[in-house]
Amino acid sequence: MIRDSYNRMHNYLRISLTDNCNLRCFYCMPEEEYEFAPASKLMQKDEIDELAKIFVSLGVNKIRLTGGEPLVRKDAAEIIKTLSKLPVKLTLTTNGSRLHEFVDILDESGVHSLNISLDTLQPERFQLITRRDQFKRVFDNIQMLLKRGFHVKVNMVVMKGLNDSEINDFVEWTKREPVHVRFIEFMPFSGNRWASNKVVTMQQILDTVSEKYEVERLQDEKHDTAKGYRVPGHLGTFAIISTMSANFCGDCNRIRLTADGKMKNCLFAEKETDLLTALRSGIDVVPLIHQNIRGKAKELGGQFTTDFEHLHPEEIHNRSMITIGG
Ligand code: SAM
Ligand code: SF4
Repeated sequence: MIRDSYNRMHNYLRISLTDNCNLRCFYCMPEEEYEFAPASKLMQKDEIDELAKIFVSLGVNKIRLTGGEPLVRKDAAEIIKTLSKLPVKLTLTTNGSRLHEFVDILDESGVHSLNISLDTLQPERFQLITRRDQFKRVFDNIQMLLKRGFHVKVNMVVMKGLNDSEINDFVEWTKREPVHVRFIEFMPFSGNRWASNKVVTMQQILDTVSEKYEVERLQDEKHDTAKGYRVPGHLGTFAIISTMSANFCGDCNRIRLTADGKMKNCLFAEKETDLLTALRSGIDVVPLIHQNIRGKAKELGGQFTTDFEHLHPEEIHNRSMITIGG
C-alpha cells in the first residue's frame, strides 16, 4: 500500500506517455520556444509496463494515460494493449484528435470510459485556444464515441473573457447527448499566462448555469475530483473541478509519473523522484516510491492555498502542464 503521512492511500496512477502534442493550447504549453524531450529520455514501452506492474503490486488499481497527447506516441496502441492486461481500470485523457484511429484498440482493450478535452464549441475559438484547426475532427470523434456507447467526459477549462460565455452551451449539449461535461477551473503552471482574474470559480459557474436551468446535485464517487450535477431531464451531466476555489486534496489518491519517468505526488509538487534512472540502473524503486509519497504536502503541493486571488504564479516552482501530464 502506498500511504502518505496524512494517511491517504494512493491507488490511482496517472502515466504521461509523452510531452509531445499535436495541439498548442496556450494554457498548457509554455509560450517560449518549446523542445519536446528526445525519445531516449522518455520511458520506453517495457519500462512503462515494468513501473506500472510495480505500482500495481503496491495497490494501484486505476491507471490513466495522459500527456502531452498520449495518442501521438508511435507505440501508444501497444502500450494500451499491454497495460490493459494488468488488473486495473485503464483509462485515458486525450485531446480527441486521433480517436478515429484508436477507437477499435480502445474497445478491444476494454477502455470504454475516457476524458476528452474541448474548451469551446466554436471552431474559430478552438483555433485561437489550441493554435490548430482541428475542431471538426475532435467534435466528430466525440460524437462517434458517444454513438458507440463509450462513457465520454468532456474537459472544458473555463477562462474568464475567453470561453465562459459558452458554459450554458455545454450544459445544453448534455440535454440531447449522454455526454458528461467537466468544467475545470483555470490552474497556474509555468509560462501559461495564468492570472487570478481569469479564473472562473465553481460558484460563478453554478450561478451561470442556475440562471438558465434547474440544477440537481449528484452523489460523487469516492476520490472524485469533480462535483457532479444534472439538469433534470438531460441525458448527460455536468461537473466542476474546483482545484482553485475548493480543492479536494483531503481525499487525494493520485500519483503521477511524467513521460521522463519522474514520480510526482501532486500536480503542484516541486519535488520529483527519478524512478526511470533508478530502474535503468537496477536500483529497487519501491523504497523510492514510499519515500516520495511520505513527503507529500497536505494540499496543492504545499505551494499555495485556496486564497488564489493573492497568488503570484511565478512563485510556484513547477513544470508546465504539458511536461507533467494532466
Ligand atoms: N492532451 C490531452 C488533453 O488535452 O486532454 C491530455 C493532457 S492535458 C495536459 C490534460 C488536461 O489538462 C486537459 O483536459 C487540459 O484541458 C487540462 N489542462 C491543461 N492545462 C490546464 C490548466 N492550466 N488549467 C486547467 N486545466 C488544464
Ligand atoms: Fe496538448 Fe492537451 Fe496540452 Fe492541449 S491540453 S496542448 S491538447 S497536451
